[in-house]
Amino acid sequence: MAPYEKPLPVINEDTALYWEYSRRHELRMQKCIACGNIRFPVSIVCPECHSLDAEWTKLSGKGKVYSYIVFHQAYHPSYVNEIPYIVGIIELDEGPRMESNIVGCDIEDITIDMPVEVVFDDVTEEISLPKFKPVS
Ligand SMILES: [Zn+2]
Repeated sequence: MAPYEKPLPVINEDTALYWEYSRRHELRMQKCIACGNIRFPVSIVCPECHSLDAEWTKLSGKGKVYSYIVFHQAYHPSYVNEIPYIVGIIELDEGPRMESNIVGCDIEDITIDMPVEVVFDDVTEEISLPKFKPVS
């Protein structure tokens, strides 16, 4: 595997399971056992009911483009060869919204509400980044 030079997420005690599931190509988020709310980003407490009890529920990986922007400038040297690239906000079928890259299509083909599904980019042995591609 070629060295990965872009910034990597920092794994900590709270996010370790999220990244471990990503490494297995499973998109899992915390589901509150008390009220059923699925939350993201990772948090020790439910923002809806303040319960501390949660389980890691497996999501469908499907959603739609809620918003996106096109980066034409590299804000980190490792992105010089990537521009222009897309950062989108994906609204997952289960409710949470997450920022990610939209890949596997031309920029001009991306539309708001376009159905997408997760794909995992294995960038290091520890980190697989969830990204989204159009549903084919
Ligand atoms: Zn809750």
